[in-house]
This record gives sequence, structure tokens and C-alpha cells, in this order.
Amino acid sequence: MAEPEAVRSAELNQRLSALLPPVLCYHRIGGPAELGVTRVAESVFARQMTTLARAGWKTLTLDQFAERLHPGHSAWPNPPSAFLLTFDDGYASLAEHVYPVLADVGFTATTFLITDYVGRANTWDVRYTWRRLAHLGWDSIGHWQERGFGFASHTASHPRLTWLPDAEAAAELERSRETLRHRLGSQAARAVAYPFGARDARIERLARAAGYELGFGGMRGGGARNGSPLALARLPVYVWDVGGVPFGLREGLAGALGRFIADIANRCAVGTTVMKGLGTRG
Ligand SMILES: [Zn+2]
Repeated sequence: MAEPEAVRSAELNQRLSALLPPVLCYHRIGGPAELGVTRVAESVFARQMTTLARAGWKTLTLDQFAERLHPGHSAWPNPPSAFLLTFDDGYASLAEHVYPVLADVGFTATTFLITDYVGRANTWDVRYTWRRLAHLGWDSIGHWQERGFGFASHTASHPRLTWLPDAEAAAELERSRETLRHRLGSQAARAVAYPFGARDARIERLARAAGYELGFGGMRGGGARNGSPLALARLPVYVWDVGGVPFGLREGLAGALGRFIADIANRCAVGTTVMKGLGTRG
């Protein structure tokens, strides 16, 4: 016989997975080519966004997305044509190649910042580009925040949280959130995207204790795992595939959109994790 708690959790998970809007995740658009697979060419990105906008898709702010987590929300079931667009790492090229494109088509996005590295080079990362890449600075972030773009935490220094002891993981989460709250206001202190998507029950608990309401993980699972808003996945394929027929088998615009979104999703996930893995193995 199933445990009541397990049943409740499974039901909630199913409900969230079915009703949460898909979450797209990109890392870097344009700039120097590299070994990693997280980079998407500027022209490809612009074409994707224009295609989505023309097809009637809308982007959600993080606040609008968070409203969908409350069962009493009047907008349920969620309209199938809205999604949350997210960027990890906060590279400076976003302000050059991405935000202007999004503003042109009436889209917004949420960018997860590595707060210790705002305005600095990406020395936190494996060096797989010839030159170090710059991160957005606070001035630029403030400018785009005023234009309706959202920001959130990608921790203070981009560690794999699951490898850290409690105190260090908590400090990463807390310091980042405090910086965001101080610099950008409480709206920017609601959510965290776990570096490398690495999270478990312990990290979710620490994130909640630090004051985060939403936590975004990697690209596995449906809209939410374990029924927890601190364990939101960013693999949109299952959520988009509402008809039960895989997108690869569908015809028409919906199928095409599903395929390229799945493609983006897979790139997003593997990227830095694979590179880090290669790095540590030599
Ligand atoms: Zn990252």
C-alpha cells in the first residue's frame, strides 16, 4: 500500500508537471566559438525568437511563472503558448546580442547571475575559450531590469553545491541572495538556478532556508520534481508534449517548435557539466 505522503507528492508532482509552463534555458549566445556545446549562434537565436513570437508564443516574468505554482491561481490550466525563458551565468554578451532581440519581439527573460562575478571575467569556469569572457555589470543589469527583464541567483561563485558541506553551500546561497536583494530588490531574491543543475533534498532544504522560493535544476524530469518548487526542472520536452505524441512524429508548426526547443534544452544541460567532467578527468 502506498504511503499517503508519497501519493500526495506524486499527485502534486503530476499536477505541476502538467500545468507548469515550459522553462527554456540558454547559457551563452554568440561570441567566440568554443569546445562546449552551450553556445548558440546569434542568428540562430534571433530566428528562434522571431519564429516563436510570430507563432503567438509569449514569455512569462518570473513572478508570473511563480503564480502558476499556486493551486488557486485563476489562470490554470496554463495557456499552452507561454513559457519562461532563462539564461544562466549572466555573460555580458546578453546585453549586446540577446536582450535587444527579445525586446524587439516583446519578450522578456530571467537571467541567473553568479553574483561574485558580476562585472568580472569568468575565472570560475573551465577555460575553453581563448580569452576569458566578461559578465554583465551592475549598471547594465540595472538598465535591463528597468526595461522589464528579471534577474535571480546562480549562487555566488558557481560551485557544484552537492559537493559542498552544509555551511559552505548555505553561504553560497545566502551571500548571493543578499547581494541581489541589496542591489536589485526583493524581486531578484526569489529564485536560484543550481550550478550544473546539481541539487538534492539537502540543497533544496538549504535553498529554502536561505529564503529562496523557487529553485531550478537541470534538464531531467517534468515541470517539477518531488512536487517541490525548489526542484523545478528545465527540460521542456515533456511539458510541451501534451498530446502524448512525440514532437518528432508530429507535423506542422507545433512539431517544428518542439523539436528545436528539445534541441536547445539538450544543449543547455550538457554543456558545462560535460566540460567540467572532461576537465577533472584531465
Ligand atoms: Zn551556470
